[in-house]
Amino acid sequence: MSRAWRLPGGCPYACDFCSVTPTWGNKWRNKSNDRIMAELRDAKAHGYNWVFFTDDIFVVFPNVRQRDELFDRIIEEDLGLKYIVQMRADVTAKNKPLIEKAARAGVKVAFLGVESGSEEVLKKMHKGEFTPQSVDAVNTLSRNGIVTLVGMMVGAPYERLRDIIASIRFSRKLARAGADAIQFSIYTPLPGTRVFDDAVRNNLLFTLDWDRYDIVTPPVMKTRLGASHGSDCTVLRNLQLLPLQVLQGGR
Ligand code: SF4
Repeated sequence: MSRAWRLPGGCPYACDFCSVTPTWGNKWRNKSNDRIMAELRDAKAHGYNWVFFTDDIFVVFPNVRQRDELFDRIIEEDLGLKYIVQMRADVTAKNKPLIEKAARAGVKVAFLGVESGSEEVLKKMHKGEFTPQSVDAVNTLSRNGIVTLVGMMVGAPYERLRDIIASIRFSRKLARAGADAIQFSIYTPLPGTRVFDDAVRNNLLFTLDWDRYDIVTPPVMKTRLGASHGSDCTVLRNLQLLPLQVLQGGR
């Protein structure tokens, strides 16, 4: 039995596509380790085996020490729960002993939002991290036996074909570093984000049908790629299939 668990939200970063900061704010907030431990004991008592911490980033630089203590306490109490977390590549790569401890505490699955293999696109997204950190992070998680799921995107309004090719090539590198699955989604201007406001201002949206704003349906926004290579839908649909072929031949 599994339970999704959200510690209080907020993210200190400001990626242009992300709805977390417009929804939860730019300040990271947290529960005390005492409270988290009490809730984990409660989950255990109710028969749960898996806990998914749905925090957008489980470890951020200001809470490294607190998470370190939390993992110590989880190891000490030996609750026997397994955990799923969402991480950032930079924090993961810079805190290898913490990741080793996380694995000992029972973290079994981690999701990393890598987004792009193009440094230029990452800069424009304001992602605040770069490709070498992502390879290092995937490698660190994988070496510790943590199943590593990677999220990437195609279709940012400023992305060129060569950036997408860089992302596809980079996904092969991540697979070699130990990524267990890599998901390519369509960059979608979610309401409330800077990219949505820009798209409205520049008349780039095809539709305001929210059912289509789901990161997998063909794009809802005009892109540079669509303008130079035909319809956005056809180009991005085909590109979504490409990484699968690349990985099948690349690992
Ligand atoms: S993508 Fe991740 S790091 Fe960027 S703003 Fe959203 S939650 Fe924060």
